[in-house]
Amino acid sequence: MIPNKQAGAALEERPGADVEAWRKDFPVLGRTINGKPLVYLDNGASAQKPRAVIERIERYYSTEHANIHRGVHHLSQEATAAYEAARETVARYFNAAEARECVFTRGATEAINLVASSWGGANLTAGDEMLLTVMEHHANIVPWQMLESRLGIKLVVAPISDAGELLVDEWEKLIGPRTKLAAFCHASNSLGTLNPARELIAKAHAHGIPVLLDGAQSAAHLKIDVRELDCDWFVCSGHKIFGPTGIGVLYGKADLLGAMPPYQGGGDMIDRVSFAGTTYRGLPERFEAGTPNIAGAVGLAAALDYLDGIGHDAIAAQEQDLLAYATEQLSQIEGLTIYGRAPNKVALVSFMIEGIHPNDIGTMLDADGIAVRTGHHCTMPLWERFGLTGTVRASFAFYNTRAEVDALVASLKKIRRLFLG
Ligand code: PLP
Repeated sequence: MIPNKQAGAALEERPGADVEAWRKDFPVLGRTINGKPLVYLDNGASAQKPRAVIERIERYYSTEHANIHRGVHHLSQEATAAYEAARETVARYFNAAEARECVFTRGATEAINLVASSWGGANLTAGDEMLLTVMEHHANIVPWQMLESRLGIKLVVAPISDAGELLVDEWEKLIGPRTKLAAFCHASNSLGTLNPARELIAKAHAHGIPVLLDGAQSAAHLKIDVRELDCDWFVCSGHKIFGPTGIGVLYGKADLLGAMPPYQGGGDMIDRVSFAGTTYRGLPERFEAGTPNIAGAVGLAAALDYLDGIGHDAIAAQEQDLLAYATEQLSQIEGLTIYGRAPNKVALVSFMIEGIHPNDIGTMLDADGIAVRTGHHCTMPLWERFGLTGTVRASFAFYNTRAEVDALVASLKKIRRLFLG
């Protein structure tokens, strides 16, 4: 039982949930904000860090740090081993066939830019088409628009239903003779919609089209198996999966990645440099120019080990319970509309309350110690589709509780009374 501090009563949490123990792993969850216990419901933007990650990074900097790959001295070799072990952990976690298929990037954004610039630059020409969906994050739109300006390719955008589900038949009908690539989010950061990735990838492959799967929002919630999904590239950000900021992963099938030209030039990615001509290393080094985020990689591996320890079934059970509970409770607030009603969703709820600006809601929730995101959530075209400029978004992690949903609902009811009487 988690004490419901707002109501002063004891509230039933999902039977069997280990949430109290999990919460103790996250020091920040013990904080108060504006005199109230922190209710952190902005996990879609960035998840909090367990002690295991914080301590791993501290240990790295306290005892293991040196620059990697280039040193003969002991510390450099230890740091290199830690960095490459982190890559092995990432590969195992996502079930990549080989560690060299996993490139460390700054995050999902950089990973998409890498594919757009490298693969796109080498394989797309004027008049070629690529298929997106209207629910994409700007990170999966703007790099392709930059390619559109540079190369004259055409972006084709698949529609969604009013419930926020991709119209799969429409999506497939948009594949034509000039379509060279499909890219879509596994889960929508604004609606929560979980796209049928495996089905879409199989359809794209039947048309001979490779697929980039944006897993920035799915990786925190689901066990990702890149080989089962059969995606050609998969991208995600460390900070959304309980790891550090400034680290992310680009997974790519070895044959595809291996045939891609380098994205950035510099140290570590070269085989031999001369003014007569330079040759490059193989995978994954050719895509990791310069000194990488070593502590970030090591911290990310600690986060993935931590998640494996919690267990993906336990995570899914807790989050789906919170999603169902939050959807039911929020639906009872007068004038509140939920955007994103797909049957398969990750644990987030986007909503508006008629007559109150989302930013006012966010600011007033903060006064109650409740952190949510407000605005367009980097999906402006999606909100245009709904005739909106944005929403309030509560996004959950396995460490959230029903009591926190109750705190959110109570605060929203109070805000509604203050604004609308
Ligand atoms: N794709 C989706 C679906 C996202 O939600 C986000 C971040 O919110 C990104 C990509 C970009 O992630 P990052 O800013 O960590 O690179």
